[in-house]
Amino acid sequence: MKSTPPAFGEEAASQILREGFGVESSSLKPLAGERDQNFRVDTAGGQRFLFKISNPADDRPILAMQAAALRHIERVDPDLPVMRALPTAAGESWVEVPGPDSRTYPARLFTFLPGHVTANTALTTEAIWSHGQITARLGQALRGFFHPAADYEILWDITRLPKLRPLLTHVSDSQRRAQVERVLDRFEARVAPALPGLRAQVIHGDMSPDNVLFGDDFRVSGIVDFGDMTHAPLACDLAVAVADVLHGRDDAIEAADAIIGGYVSVTPLEDEEAGLLADLVAARLAAEVTVTAWRRGLYPDNAAYAASGEPGARAFLDAIEAMGIDAVARRFREACRQLPYQRSATSSLLERRRRALPRSPLFYSRPVHLVRGEGVWLFDPDDRRYLDCYNNVPVVGHSHRRVVQAVTQQQRLLATHSRYLHEAIVELAERLQATLPPELDAVMVVNSGSEANDLAWRIARAATGRAGAVVTACAYHGLTEATHALSPEEWAKGEQPAHIATIPAPDGYRGPYRRGEDGWVQRYAAHIDDAARALGDRGFAAIYLDPAFTADGILSPPPTYLQEAARRALTLGGLVVADEVQAGHGRSGTHLWSFQASGIAPDMVVMGKPMGNGFPVAALVVRSQLLEAVPEEVELFSTFGGNPVACAAALAVLAVIEDEGLVANAAKVGSYLRQGLLTLAERHPLIGDVRGEGLLLGVELVDEARGPAAGNARKVTEAMRERGILLSATGPAGNVLKIRPPLVFRHEHADLLLQALDEVLASS
Ligand code: PMP
Repeated sequence: MKSTPPAFGEEAASQILREGFGVESSSLKPLAGERDQNFRVDTAGGQRFLFKISNPADDRPILAMQAAALRHIERVDPDLPVMRALPTAAGESWVEVPGPDSRTYPARLFTFLPGHVTANTALTTEAIWSHGQITARLGQALRGFFHPAADYEILWDITRLPKLRPLLTHVSDSQRRAQVERVLDRFEARVAPALPGLRAQVIHGDMSPDNVLFGDDFRVSGIVDFGDMTHAPLACDLAVAVADVLHGRDDAIEAADAIIGGYVSVTPLEDEEAGLLADLVAARLAAEVTVTAWRRGLYPDNAAYAASGEPGARAFLDAIEAMGIDAVARRFREACRQLPYQRSATSSLLERRRRALPRSPLFYSRPVHLVRGEGVWLFDPDDRRYLDCYNNVPVVGHSHRRVVQAVTQQQRLLATHSRYLHEAIVELAERLQATLPPELDAVMVVNSGSEANDLAWRIARAATGRAGAVVTACAYHGLTEATHALSPEEWAKGEQPAHIATIPAPDGYRGPYRRGEDGWVQRYAAHIDDAARALGDRGFAAIYLDPAFTADGILSPPPTYLQEAARRALTLGGLVVADEVQAGHGRSGTHLWSFQASGIAPDMVVMGKPMGNGFPVAALVVRSQLLEAVPEEVELFSTFGGNPVACAAALAVLAVIEDEGLVANAAKVGSYLRQGLLTLAERHPLIGDVRGEGLLLGVELVDEARGPAAGNARKVTEAMRERGILLSATGPAGNVLKIRPPLVFRHEHADLLLQALDEVLASS
């Protein structure tokens, strides 16, 4: 790098061409070069070449690598518009030319590619996209290339950015120097440790607009200059392209979507790569600023070329800092994810949705428009984030990597139904059984909680020969005809199916028997006897219980309630269905299945919602003896139920819950949050009661007369939404704030929720 570029005269160059390559040139036109001397060569016969006399300091093994790489690319992707190396008259890859000093200079001849170097500010979005796409194709073409010289050091290798620190003294502007130092510090802390884990290969390393030619149609027509080729993380190729193609553009950050989009249309980025992209881009820009400052001092004559990209690099760095590197990182990562649909403005999307799906409910007066999720966070199209305190489906966190991987891998391999022998459904069934009491020994995998509860109802009727059910007064168990009947929460006014009897949910705050009263739990359970009696001739086939009584207002009666309820049901000959769709998968913080805290042995257990972290999968686990009542010829089969992809998702979720200790986390963070809510209750008379277990908590809002304050609950959830915190309200009167976040919720998230709630309640 410190050695000066060659300076052969045209005469000398023509002679080398003639003697070394057997090419008679009719004209030579000098072209720009940072460390090589380049000419465009025209012959009388109308042929055109690129002639390159390289720096004598260039290692010959590296030149050999470049020649081998070009041959490799030609073999793998012959249509890629890459320059081709032409052999010397002696069949070598280059000739050694004695220079004016005592050293020899390697000279090479290449095909001359059509097209022109275009100022990056003149590139259209399509051209930028094409640049990204061709960068990825080149990376793919080089994927299988190996050369022993590939591990050499070049100044421009982003991964070696920290080595530029000593050159920082050449950056004279102290503010600029401080900015570059910030990039370096962050690089060392965040990027460098992750680099060894990224997929790496030989990359071009300098896909800048100087090295990529465009045709008049704004498509890439040529890739030249393989002088920065080295073994490095693949993502560096894209980072260089983003930095160099976009620097100096006013829309640098926005236009990154196009270049990234073009790239990932060929080669999707892995999560780690996508997450580091913005830092790698900043690193390239910082290198540009630093190296330019240094070289300006070294080669004042070549300064114009060396500095050409530098003002743009500075502007791009400023733009990144202005937006905040983390926000830029999120934006780039989102671009890497390739949203599969067009982005509509929120208002027009809302209008279309209301027209096309008139009965599909939406939360909030200003519905939240979401495009992605990550852990406990959800993001809207403007990358505004919302803390998810509501969703139990993403139980292990939104977009959990292991679940995503399990699903995509399985989808790639095989996605059929369950009538073929396949490992996943068997493994899932065995794993579920292992978590449950031994008498629950038969698993059926279906697609939704409704379907599982519906199936449970059929089995209960067949097994008992009875036709009536008992549910709590505001229960929810599903959407189908049979489960809607089991869901008083959703009954129309006056609707009361004749085969259903309700019991008061064990609400020790507002119900007929209050917490602390003697025998209050037993008195609630005793209602089962009355309900069974009310079913009359139909008979008592089953009681469905959500052990967390979520729709009934999130109640957490002591374990004696379930014990007493199960005992009475058994005496009455009715089956107990534990609906773990809400409370299961570790949410209660004590066991994987919430009923286990009471030690009861239900006849059937239903699981759903969180089971696939968003992939539809649900299950019913029953005592196999009950199934004997369903005639053999009745096939219990559902097309999608238990398909390999669903099972892969469910298995991944169980594994993550265990590996990340999420049951214990639900207990720990849940009790911290509960404590915080109780503290708020001391300050805010609007809070009448705080209850729940683990990470399923209810906050009952009351008016001055302790009546349900449903209007306030709505106002609070709306105000929380405006503050970027998502929760909801539940209960018979809709006055109970429902807090039910993904189980990866941590103390810091609880603090955010508590602080916002404190402020909102203070202004309510
Ligand atoms: N049971 C309970 C306790 C539920 O909360 C729900 C859904 N909210 C269901 C069953 C029905 O599940 P799905 O919506 O998957 O059909």
